[in-house]
Amino acid sequence: MRILLVEDDIQLAEGLAASLRTEGYSVDLAADGIEAQYRGEESLYDGVVLDLGLPGRSGLEVLRHWRGQGLAVPVLILTARDSWQERVEGLQAGADDYLGKPFHQEELLARLQALLRRSGTQEQVMLSINGVNLDEQAKEVRLEERPVSLTATEYKLLRYLMRHAGEVLSKQKLYEAIYEWDEDRDINIIEVYIRRLRDKLGSERIETRRGQGYCFPITR
Ligand code: CA
Repeated sequence: MRILLVEDDIQLAEGLAASLRTEGYSVDLAADGIEAQYRGEESLYDGVVLDLGLPGRSGLEVLRHWRGQGLAVPVLILTARDSWQERVEGLQAGADDYLGKPFHQEELLARLQALLRRSGTQEQVMLSINGVNLDEQAKEVRLEERPVSLTATEYKLLRYLMRHAGEVLSKQKLYEAIYEWDEDRDINIIEVYIRRLRDKLGSERIETRRGQGYCFPITR
């Protein structure tokens, strides 16, 4: 799950980003309205946390712009405490939920999770394909009932492959699914992780489509 976090209070933003990452989200940060609007339009996100008071362009303008462009990504806005006007304007502009500042991080996590669940982009609890069982709540993987130990990156990659089982996924797409935009790594690292997953799960479970990418086949 990839979240765009828009907040110009850097300390708050980094604290929130750290908690979100602990929960398993990939997080991109934007600190002003112009960058936020641009990133949002890339449409790579499962959800957005949007502060309304931003330099460059206000969160409300950004949100109105996105909705005007037909962007349906779930948005949770952060509003000034006790400002019912902001909440109303935000909801009218197309926000899905709001949270008044200051708030507890636990509440933000719970609201975001609820929002993603309602919008249908929340992760399924259990994926079972070709003898591989991936429990998204426990973050556990089993192969024919036998527990398989994966690193965090291997897990992210496998989850993405399984969530898109039967689709051919390019190296670029897999790279974007597991790394954040500002992480500068060689895209060929994907090959290394694919090899490790094959070692652990059986090479037949991830197919190579020459010149196109990789596929977690549905039937075998
Ligand atoms: Ca602000």
